[in-house]
Amino acid sequence: MTTTAPASTTDAHAAVDRIFGADVFTQRVMQQRLPKEIYRSLVNTIRMGDPLDPAVADVVAATMKDWAVENGATHFTHWFQPLTGSTAEKHDSLIAPDGAGGVMYNFSGAELVQGEPDASSFPSGGIRATFEARGYTAWDPTSPAFLVRGQKNVTLCIPTAFVSWTGEALDTKIPLLRSMEALSHQALRILQLFQTDAGVRRVTTTVGPEQEYFLVDRELYFRRPDLVTCERTLFGARPPKGQQLEDHYFGTIPPRVLAFMSDVERELWRFGVPVKTRHNEVAPGQYEIAPVFESSHIASDHQMLLMETLRRVAPQHGLKVLLHEKPFAGINGSGKHNNWSMSTDTGVNLLDPQDAAHTNLQFLVFLCAVVRAVDLHADLLRASIASAGNDHRLGANEAPPAIISVFLGDMLQDILDQVEKGLPKRTLGGGVIDLGARTLPQLPRHSSDRNRTSPFAFTGNKFEFRAVGSSASIAWPNTVLNLIVAESLDVIATDLQKAAGKNPTPAKLQSATLAVLKKVIHQHKRVVFAGDNYSAEWHEEAARRGLPILDDSVDSFPVLQSKKNLDLFKKYGVLSKAELSSRTHIVLEKFVKQLAIEAETMISIGRTMVLPAALRHQTILAGTVAATTATGVKAAGVTKTLRGFSALLDRFQEALEKLEKVTAAEHESTMRHAIYIKKSVRPAMNELRVLVDQLETHVAADLWPLPTYGELTTLK
Ligand code: ADP
Ligand code: MG
Repeated sequence: MTTTAPASTTDAHAAVDRIFGADVFTQRVMQQRLPKEIYRSLVNTIRMGDPLDPAVADVVAATMKDWAVENGATHFTHWFQPLTGSTAEKHDSLIAPDGAGGVMYNFSGAELVQGEPDASSFPSGGIRATFEARGYTAWDPTSPAFLVRGQKNVTLCIPTAFVSWTGEALDTKIPLLRSMEALSHQALRILQLFQTDAGVRRVTTTVGPEQEYFLVDRELYFRRPDLVTCERTLFGARPPKGQQLEDHYFGTIPPRVLAFMSDVERELWRFGVPVKTRHNEVAPGQYEIAPVFESSHIASDHQMLLMETLRRVAPQHGLKVLLHEKPFAGINGSGKHNNWSMSTDTGVNLLDPQDAAHTNLQFLVFLCAVVRAVDLHADLLRASIASAGNDHRLGANEAPPAIISVFLGDMLQDILDQVEKGLPKRTLGGGVIDLGARTLPQLPRHSSDRNRTSPFAFTGNKFEFRAVGSSASIAWPNTVLNLIVAESLDVIATDLQKAAGKNPTPAKLQSATLAVLKKVIHQHKRVVFAGDNYSAEWHEEAARRGLPILDDSVDSFPVLQSKKNLDLFKKYGVLSKAELSSRTHIVLEKFVKQLAIEAETMISIGRTMVLPAALRHQTILAGTVAATTATGVKAAGVTKTLRGFSALLDRFQEALEKLEKVTAAEHESTMRHAIYIKKSVRPAMNELRVLVDQLETHVAADLWPLPTYGELTTLK
């Protein structure tokens, strides 16, 4: 931004004002620099989703180049999100020899609009063979270009979509954009019915993702091969003090961590990522950062930038950030709370109940559409967050269970109960909380408490999908969420049109809506649950209600291939059958490979670090026994310790060999391999881990080769 801060603001405020969006080719910059007609045409593409006019690209490219070069950029890259789960970039210089002994800066419209990275090394899940590996990146004008500053280098990054030569999506952005289109189309039908569509051209979905993460000391990190290769500890005995005292959550942020957070925020502000919240999380060493919500596709790009920035800045503070869902056993893991809503381009939040929610029929339609979607497609939603890492988190009595249910709160629950019976007549209010001290303000009370255990909770004017993994891209779960809600809105809009008839009177529209919603509520209320999602009773209850219970990713993957889901993706133009199959193939392969890496790392640490340390310890014990008994003293205590330790060491070696054996097995398909991992490899890993953790509590501390949990989770 170009505004200068008033003199009275502090340095920090002035800095924020100066840097927010400083490295982004924002609409404001475009407006200042582009010819009027070009700007207008581009804005229509950005805001309304109008197709891009090719003539515009050359002018935009030249302007973007000037802006980037003035800001120090020497290179540009198409920045995209292939199916690896991270981002990809290939840099090209903006500089070319000018033929007269100097250089000139060049960047054409063609270079802006289309790139051709060597696509053969990105996962395509079998869509393309290597010999036909052509893939293109295509400029996404709706997501602003930005500059990444490194040491002595500045690169212009252009957000792009990644597509195969045959036109199939090879990234996470394309299906997300397609799902937003689908939802917009169906949501507009509802607005038209309620005649609230005046001036509305699009409905977009909005997302505010809260990111949890761990920080560990970089020195210690490099002494843990499991953290280095798997981003999670494969071994580690529970320290005497974990999170029992619950003294970390919202605690004072350690100065070193706060310095890191401030640097991260400053970097993100430069990118125009509106980060807002920072705090300590529940587990020792765990923290959270959250931006203000944005349109889903921008939020998704920004979320990738956020993860990259956390990773990039941490080493400058001697830290390493862990985005894995479960870096440490026995203490909380990390998630990404995906706050989600729908909004018109005129700024109306369609999930805002407003004051008298029971009379706000349009709100109730959108709300019930979400409830219906989650009930009908709970399996798909579950599958959208399935990963090897998230398997350790979901259902571990700290994160939502793997069973998807919806929490609505007392007020909405009450309204839906009323609708199911007839005409809703009241909206429960929250009243005020009297703090009993006259100097304190009276606080307005929300109409219902929170439910922290629910995977999918209504939180006032949005839903919070809490089961997303901390390392995952949010693009995929949001694609699924948009798609299933689009389908629900479609069905409900069609039913409403049928029930209300052409040009209905307000009374007719009201009775038609209530009749349609009554049916929806009756059919789908089984997915609504207000109790403790962590409890064993809920599992039994959910089974009775017939909700899908998919305990882990191996159970969830096949869902992506069901006919129902293939048809659903195809019907709304989000993914073709080939595109969805390729994605399933990729997540399966990733799962199997990750587990193979984890098992091999366990074996390697077991053989080359744990075993030698344990043998040394045993030798000391044996030496003590021999030396002591040689003096004629009965070393009863040490002898007993030696015996016990030696037996433990034997069991450890057996478990190690067993794990080696199961990891060597061959499999006829990736799915079979995944099932085998669930049945045989993971149990063998768990068995080995228990024994190593026992050894850790017996072996002399100075011999133990790995930094302990206590050391790792306490930042000095
Ligand atoms: P919590 O108290 O659950 O931690 P906050 O109130 O801090 O949550 O908000 C969490 C996130 O929800 C923020 O990123 C916020 O911007 C986002 N959010 C708020 N309103 C919406 C909305 N309409 N659509 C999407 N996200 C939203
Ligand atoms: Mg939250």
